[in-house]
Amino acid sequence: MKRLLRRSVQALHAYVPGEQPKDPNVVKLNTNENPYPPSPAVEAALSGITPGRLARYPDPMSTGFRKAAAELHGCGLEQVMAGNGSDEILALCIRAFVEQDGSVGYFDPSYSLYPVLCDIAEVGKRPVPLGPEFSWSVPDKFSCPLFFITNPNAPTSMLFPRNQVEAFCRNFEGVVVIDEAYVDFAPAHCMDLALSLPNVIVMRTLSKGYSLAGIRLGYAVGHKELVDALFKVKDSYNVNMLTQAAGEAALRDQAWMKGNVRKIVATRERVTRELSSRGYSVQPSSSNFLWARPPVGVEASAVFEHLRRNHVFIRYFPGPKTGAYLRITIGTDEQMDRFLAAL
Ligand SMILES: *Cc1c(COP(=O)(O)O)cnc(C)c1O
Repeated sequence: MKRLLRRSVQALHAYVPGEQPKDPNVVKLNTNENPYPPSPAVEAALSGITPGRLARYPDPMSTGFRKAAAELHGCGLEQVMAGNGSDEILALCIRAFVEQDGSVGYFDPSYSLYPVLCDIAEVGKRPVPLGPEFSWSVPDKFSCPLFFITNPNAPTSMLFPRNQVEAFCRNFEGVVVIDEAYVDFAPAHCMDLALSLPNVIVMRTLSKGYSLAGIRLGYAVGHKELVDALFKVKDSYNVNMLTQAAGEAALRDQAWMKGNVRKIVATRERVTRELSSRGYSVQPSSSNFLWARPPVGVEASAVFEHLRRNHVFIRYFPGPKTGAYLRITIGTDEQMDRFLAAL
């Protein structure tokens, strides 16, 4: 049967998402989801869609949702594009900006989906190793048509300094996509770069800060010409009707999202202190998760397995750059107490 598949697909190592266990007793701290429910306005928006309306196709341009995003960021409607999760938009960026013989730059470690998307599209990969303590480190002369910067970075949880990101964007000849999936939990963002520089796209998601990972919605903001290119290569109806309605309602209730973020950040700081007092080395987090190294003599993989046996799921990425660390999503205070007890 293998001969029926494209060679690149035969060889492909698919992206491995975190487990979604069926057991409701599991403390699930493995996929950076938000432990709090979305805005009540989401339920109201969804119940406003009668089943009869589902017989129609959705708005192919996601206009209502994009208007809410444009108002939020003070930009034109034509500068916003919506996707079926920001994961879809990442794939569209490769489709729109990279020739078949081109390549994509990204940090290593960063979001492990990037190399998989390159392999699917059969374009080159240009991983740039991070410096000591996962710091920024791109050579001055680095050129390729597209660069993904996760900021705050994953799985390291850290925010890259704004001046380094901005200087890179100004010097870089290709398109820079700043993937701000975790920015709601961070003290700073780069949206203004997408609105002022012609080669920068900032990507946001409703999956983390807005507690809506299940509806699959993300958006890109940038210069009209870049955004137009993304529209050209997307599926006609890439965002479904229910998602558009829920996403617009959530975006218009900033106070709800920020309230949840405040709780998560307070819990994050408490758990950071607690882990540090137990000898863990915890990177300074600007996100809704921690990147922590167990005390000397304790294997990260062993901690991961031990927690798993005790029904606490976190994330472990084997490999030379990440294998000494654990990624721990911040849940509610009760969930984190169960985590600490099991630890
Ligand atoms: C969660 C995440 C995304 C994916 O967001 P979706 O909108 O759920 O597809 C993108 N980039 C990074 C770095 C993420 O952690």
